[in-house]
Amino acid sequence: MKKYEKEDVSVVWNSEKCKHAGLCARQLPQVFKPKEKPWIQTANATKAQIVEQVSKCPSGALSIE
Ligand code: SF4
Repeated sequence: MKKYEKEDVSVVWNSEKCKHAGLCARQLPQVFKPKEKPWIQTANATKAQIVEQVSKCPSGALSIE
C-alpha cells in the first residue's frame, strides 16, 4: 500500500489489487504516470478530479482516505 497526499486527503494505492490495465493513466494522464516516480502525481489536477478518477478504478486498487 502506498499513499499520495492531496490537500486533506490521500490517494491509497494497493499494488496487489491493481490490474495494470491503465484506465487511470488513460483518463487522467497528467496524474497517473506508470513510468515515473512517484507514479501518482497529485499536484497536476484538482482534488475533485483525482477523487473522481479514483472512484472509477475497476479493481478497487485505488481508494481515498
Ligand atoms: S485504474 Fe486502478 S487497476 Fe487500473 S491501472 Fe489504475 S490503479 Fe490499476
